[in-house]
Amino acid sequence: MLRTKALSKLLPRSRPERALLTLLVLGVPCAAVWMWLVVLPQFPGAWHSAFILHVVLTVYLLYNVSVNFFLTMRVDASGDPSALPVFLKPGWRYCHYCELNAPARSYHCSDCGSCILRRDHHCRFTGCCVGHHNQRFFVAGLVHLVAGLTYLLVYQWPLVYRLLGVSIYTFPLVLLAPHFAWVWGTITHWGMMVATVHCACVAAWMTCVYVSYTQLRVIITGTTQHEHKHGVTIYNVSVTHNITTALGHRWYLVLFWPHVSSTLASDGLIFTTAADHQELKDI
Ligand SMILES: [Zn+2]
Ligand SMILES: [Zn+2]
Repeated sequence: MLRTKALSKLLPRSRPERALLTLLVLGVPCAAVWMWLVVLPQFPGAWHSAFILHVVLTVYLLYNVSVNFFLTMRVDASGDPSALPVFLKPGWRYCHYCELNAPARSYHCSDCGSCILRRDHHCRFTGCCVGHHNQRFFVAGLVHLVAGLTYLLVYQWPLVYRLLGVSIYTFPLVLLAPHFAWVWGTITHWGMMVATVHCACVAAWMTCVYVSYTQLRVIITGTTQHEHKHGVTIYNVSVTHNITTALGHRWYLVLFWPHVSSTLASDGLIFTTAADHQELKDI
């Protein structure tokens, strides 16, 4: 059973993180509404059966993004401090801030004010750390966000191209700086707005793809961001074991639905190393 934080403790402490969380909370539903009211109606027959399918798909993506990121914030990545031993075990260290014996792979986060089990990184958008117990939700939320943005960008492209109405040579320039084109009267108010939304979506997509790549890299190699940076590879057992450590035994389902239970390969305190695995194989 995952430990959860009180709802009153979910809001990030710093103002920049609160601003980024607001952007996420407002931006994702606004993108869905934009898809329904602006992007889809441009296609002939969009208000019939195909439109219903698009709405269902958008609601599914919206639900997965919202619930997965909410659970990333709600699940307590610091684990259960009462389960930590009084004596320092080999490979563990004492955290002077928490005044607790912290397991290997855990690190103290000054923003969260606690030691996070198998800490990966502190996410500025959700205002919390991504670690052993909530990484599956973070990754699933990210995957659906990338899918949703790709879907939006593909369907939005014909609308952008038609509204800008400029030559193929000047099109990239107008798309990159729609405000200048609007001031010069090359595009309409509406064209400028659509182009601005498109640029914002492209920027969000590129950011999400990059973060997804960093997550894929650490999950496949059985590391955290810190371990990857410092060349720590002792927990790189096998691709399957590494994935089940991060996402659980039913990893292929957690990527589709946030409410699926998926037991992790470790309790967050003790992790199998490549040497342990080799010894077991030799026996
Ligand atoms: Zn600590
Ligand atoms: Zn943190």
